[in-house]
Amino acid sequence: MTIAPHPVHLVGAGPGDPELLTLKALRVLRQASVILVDDLVGDEVLQAALADVAAPPRIVRVGKRGGCASTPQDFIEKLMVREALAGERVVRLKGGDPLVFGRAGEEIAALRAAGVEVVIVNGITSGLAAAGSAGIGWTDRRAGAQGVLLVTGHAGQGCEEPDWDAIARVAAGGVTLVVYMGVARVEAIVDQLRTALPAGLPVAIVRRASAVDEVVARTTLGGLVDTIRSRRIGSPAILVIGRVAGSAAELVRQHEQQPMAHPTNVGKMPAALTI
Ligand code: SAH
Repeated sequence: MTIAPHPVHLVGAGPGDPELLTLKALRVLRQASVILVDDLVGDEVLQAALADVAAPPRIVRVGKRGGCASTPQDFIEKLMVREALAGERVVRLKGGDPLVFGRAGEEIAALRAAGVEVVIVNGITSGLAAAGSAGIGWTDRRAGAQGVLLVTGHAGQGCEEPDWDAIARVAAGGVTLVVYMGVARVEAIVDQLRTALPAGLPVAIVRRASAVDEVVARTTLGGLVDTIRSRRIGSPAILVIGRVAGSAAELVRQHEQQPMAHPTNVGKMPAALTI
């Protein structure tokens, strides 16, 4: 059996602002010879990380956006294994954190089955960045929040839909809901949540949290569908649902952009190959 000389790194790129990359992610990206990139990761993150790197890595875009043409998961896994066994220093770069709705489990299993070591490098998940953008304390005790539930609004192919009745009951007990991939199915989600939650419950919608073109909108559960439609808010967006989302946050500027993070201020990056 061939032995891979280097582990594959599963790396979180964070939510969009290049300054939210961890130092560890930066180091690993700069040492990589091949980077397999999700389509949630913007060019500005790669540009900022690789601007002046001595030996530019090969960059392969392996998009997997819901509903659009995407690279099959097993193809990505095979490619990772093949590159690792060929001696490459492989980074699998994902938006946010690789362990949050990132199919990391499948990728880790595939790599382990091929005898390839895996190193996880956490990133800031977009739900947390959305809370930062909207100035929301996920677990603010003053609003009676006891915890947080990260939930997907869009079950993967062949997966069961989330049990929204159960989720609504948990939220009614004071747990903040952070919904990923919820925009496309927002009507159905609101209908089901309304069985246990009041129309006036605050909601924050954050599109492209931390990116230069981020959008933050505040509404209620009853007004959520209209707000998304009238403001034409599309994916990728996070919904933060719960009393904590009602906190006023006009003075919060969590994701102030620095010049280094601006796409026009960074150097050229190696050309990306889309497969
Ligand atoms: N691993 C990622 C989540 C991938 S699932 C993470 O930890 O963030 C894809 C979903 O993440 C999108 O549909 C959207 O709900 C959310 N998302 C990713 N990046 C985002 C961003 N910058 N702003 C708001 N939502 C984002």
